Amino acid sequence: MLKISILAPGQNLISYRAQNNTGSQKYLNHEQDIFVKKKISFTSNTLNDHVNYARANGVELDCKLTELAEMVCRTIDVLKNKNFALPSKIICDISYFEGKNANRKGFFYNGEENTVFLNPLACTNSHFGQLFSNNSYSTNFKEHPIFHEIAHFLHYKQNKEYYKSLKANKTKLEKSELKIIGYTLGDYVIEKGNVLEFIAEAFTAFVTNHINPEKVPEIYEIYKKYKGPEIKV
Ligand SMILES: [Zn+2]
Repeated sequence: MLKISILAPGQNLISYRAQNNTGSQKYLNHEQDIFVKKKISFTSNTLNDHVNYARANGVELDCKLTELAEMVCRTIDVLKNKNFALPSKIICDISYFEGKNANRKGFFYNGEENTVFLNPLACTNSHFGQLFSNNSYSTNFKEHPIFHEIAHFLHYKQNKEYYKSLKANKTKLEKSELKIIGYTLGDYVIEKGNVLEFIAEAFTAFVTNHINPEKVPEIYEIYKKYKGPEIKV
């Protein structure tokens, strides 16, 4: 049985995690960080190499930044090795991130069902790295937003009508579920309380070996209840 308590007002998440071994800290194993473990490196490649690598994996990558294209390729590599489908298009173009979208790192919407959009500035801006170190999200590496958006795509793809209804109704996690999840997946999930965001953050932590779903069975049950992309454990 997982015991997860909710933060006291003003309590800092890092100190919370230090005091409570029920938080994700217990399950974080940076030694096993998937990138370190597999020694995936595309750093010597040019932008064109990355675009070609993505294309060879069925992804049309529209990106002008070598750094971001490399991040996308690392993400593709992890997901294809786990046999997940990939979006047929990943567009990294600042023109999609103006006005109300300016602070978003990316988005997926079911109107463009095979396309994931990434914000080139936000994905490579060190300000966002800062957010990660503050435990806002379920992992703390820079590819996180790419996994997160592809998670939305996979969730949609698994059951389109169900995903659309969760989105249209802005379905929230139940109070009892929020209590079980606590801050295990970072404060973004708890702040939003939104089922779609919970699935994307949980998926990202699971597929990158940051959290073993079997170690958090009650959270994994909630993940399966809302039809998160199937994870082979
Ligand atoms: Zn999201």
